[in-house]
Amino acid sequence: MIENIFTTIITILLILVGIVIYFWPIFIPIFIFSAIRKNMANKKMKQNVIHAEEKTVYNKRFTDINKEELRSLEINDINQLKQYLYAIFLDFEKAYNNLDYKTMNKNSTSKLYNTYHSAILLNLKFAQKKIIDNIELKRMFIYSSMNSQYRQTIYTTIEIEYVSYMEDYSGQIISGTTEPITEAFEVVFVKSVQKDGIKCPNCAATVTDGVCDYCGTEVKSTDFEIDSIKKIVQ
Ligand SMILES: [Zn+2]
Repeated sequence: MIENIFTTIITILLILVGIVIYFWPIFIPIFIFSAIRKNMANKKMKQNVIHAEEKTVYNKRFTDINKEELRSLEINDINQLKQYLYAIFLDFEKAYNNLDYKTMNKNSTSKLYNTYHSAILLNLKFAQKKIIDNIELKRMFIYSSMNSQYRQTIYTTIEIEYVSYMEDYSGQIISGTTEPITEAFEVVFVKSVQKDGIKCPNCAATVTDGVCDYCGTEVKSTDFEIDSIKKIVQ
């Protein structure tokens, strides 16, 4: 009985092999056809992704603020402002890659600095490091702003092409690739505005030359700092 089943299976297999050997030219067009179809589907998917990005991230939602709003910020040239803010963002990203805590701290609010700093420490605990490289600006919009008595806030979108991946202590890539990717971020910049001299954030005494007169705390400059970086999800 068992021998019978075994013989049947072997016979069926032999017949199948025979069919493949005899009719193999039939399979060539099938392979070619499926390869072409796969390639076309991939291309279409890529196009759809790019199309979706164009539509949702930028063309519809974001435009630059108008001249009046720009004037209320006491700024004449929007491109100069973009260059200035982008440089802060770029320096921050580079400092993050280089574990340059001082520059990170200078270019971001304490809240954001703490978030990024603890992310780095956690990665290092697992002997991992995030690599950010070859950053290239694609598009940037200053799409909103806010002025208050104490704070000036500027809302931007920054689209960059860059390389981003995680590696372990031996330089092996754990996640991501060395292929450049394009991503867009909402980056919010803030600047303290105090007309009658800066106050110490620690004790509220007046600050002279970046150092508190009373408690000696080093007070950051009043340049724009990054308050938040959020990836814009398509
Ligand atoms: Zn103080």
